[in-house]
Amino acid sequence: MEIIKGIAVSPGVAICPAVVLDAEDYHVPRRLVPHSDVPHQHARLDEAIGRSRIDIEQLREQVENDLGHETALIFSFHLGLLKDDALIGQIHDHIAEEAVTAEYALAKVLRDFAKLMTNHQNAVFRERASDIWDIEKRVLRHLIEDSVADIDDLHHEAVIVAHDLTPSQTASLDKSTIKGIVTDVGGRTSHTAIVARALRIPAVVGAESATKNISSSDTVVVDGHRGLVIINPDPEQLEEYKDYVQQIQARAVDLADIATQPAITKDGIKISLNANVEFNSEIQDILENGADGIGLYRTEYLFLSNESEPDEEEQFNTLADAIKQVDGKIVTIRTLDLGADKFTQRHAELKERNPFLGCRSIRFCLQNLSLFKTHLRAILRASAFGPIRIMFPLISNMLELRQTRMILHDVMEDLEDQNIPFDRNVQIGIMIEVPSTAIMARTFVTEVDFFSIGTNDLVQYTLAVDRANEHVANLYSPANPAVLRLIKDVIRAGKRGAVDVSICGEMAGEPQYAMPLLGLGLRSLSMSPPAIPAIKQIIRAVTIADCERVARRIAAYDSERQVVNYLREETRKVLPEVYDGRTVV
Ligand code: PEP
Ligand code: MG
Repeated sequence: MEIIKGIAVSPGVAICPAVVLDAEDYHVPRRLVPHSDVPHQHARLDEAIGRSRIDIEQLREQVENDLGHETALIFSFHLGLLKDDALIGQIHDHIAEEAVTAEYALAKVLRDFAKLMTNHQNAVFRERASDIWDIEKRVLRHLIEDSVADIDDLHHEAVIVAHDLTPSQTASLDKSTIKGIVTDVGGRTSHTAIVARALRIPAVVGAESATKNISSSDTVVVDGHRGLVIINPDPEQLEEYKDYVQQIQARAVDLADIATQPAITKDGIKISLNANVEFNSEIQDILENGADGIGLYRTEYLFLSNESEPDEEEQFNTLADAIKQVDGKIVTIRTLDLGADKFTQRHAELKERNPFLGCRSIRFCLQNLSLFKTHLRAILRASAFGPIRIMFPLISNMLELRQTRMILHDVMEDLEDQNIPFDRNVQIGIMIEVPSTAIMARTFVTEVDFFSIGTNDLVQYTLAVDRANEHVANLYSPANPAVLRLIKDVIRAGKRGAVDVSICGEMAGEPQYAMPLLGLGLRSLSMSPPAIPAIKQIIRAVTIADCERVARRIAAYDSERQVVNYLREETRKVLPEVYDGRTVV
């Protein structure tokens, strides 16, 4: 039994065998397997060697045709090694004697062999060392492909353990078999974490040594509340977790009752509680959780969950379907927020040095006008089916907003010329995610109908902390006084300019921030759907005066630690079950 501490990003508990995906750099950890699995590892090794031989035969033929017999001879050495019974036998023996994976045994035996060659007196032998590395890589690639292919074809429930998963990989996981996610890297507001929450798969990220310490057949507990990963739990721990799962289920039943009740404070103030949505399949769920509408529709998932980029018709159909499903409730559609950790198939290769500071989001759209105009046409056409608002992400200066609005205007004119129906009076807003825009919020009020504070990015840019980097996760906090002050200023600017202000960063769904956000004057919050009932429970238990007192108090603190401790205490007073030490939300 071993426990790894990571970052809890998606609540729930999973207890399942692990499927470990290998990192692409072929770092091969020493993973033990049960003795009963040894024949399977032998078979995997033989299969991968067989496939490698076929590759090399083909390569040899091709090189012989193109470059001649002499050059092709090099592959005879490769083939000879892969047919060398003594060498292959050594790898088989290593698997059996040490009870390790085929990958590890292969890497160990071949790397030892390559080292011997490297140190050899004879130059001919020394040159052979790089051929051995080459062969090792080729066979490993086949072994690793095997384990990657496995997740698409799993016939049993499993916890996926990976160095990292992209948001699109996470989006394509099959919920019926994948019961938990563990990654070595990532942070609470990384998009992979957000997708795991949307899919309601318990997840722990930033569990730095997970892929090194977990083997594919281990039983793993993923505790998505406390951020723990328990490898091969002992019977007492399993019992404890079974009790805990029951508590969570009981809490879910209580919360389901709350979902149907209105989000009104004790002194009668109505709060609008909305959902952040990535996939249309979530919409039924948000209605059941008692959401008033969709406060953030992340359109980039139209691009991330498809093999190819969707055309106007596909985008229009998906958006119109979402609008029809919510049946008259307002949908705030955010325009494409691609880039940084959210890549399309076409743009995945265009690596940037600082992707979060690069050509992402609205900047990417403004540099890809044809794609952007098609996207805006699809949104506007969908607006004929119900009330929507259009929101532009990552606006960092006024010119950018004006340019964006002009493009929207052009697209509207085209639609009018073509007599295509859309809502001419659709409300236009921006996300406040960049400190420059937060600071200048007073100026922006004259040009938009609404603001939505995107704290996931606002925190990262204000504090200079990568939201997806587990090594600096301790510095990433919405409770930092600088962040709180920016939020306060934006809300005040909105009030003065008669511009509606809401919040859609993950902060909105974290129970400890509900009181200060209301106290600062927000009356509209948008969050991941599972968070709605607990936030509603807090709202129903407080008065605005209580919340204003809390907001005033935290404004006086100069450290994040003081703010967090105080908010925990205050939240525990109104909702003890949220802070029973495990945050059962
Ligand atoms: C945000 O930055 O707060 C936000 C909601 O946008 P995203 O998480 O999609 O970047
Ligand atoms: Mg953002």
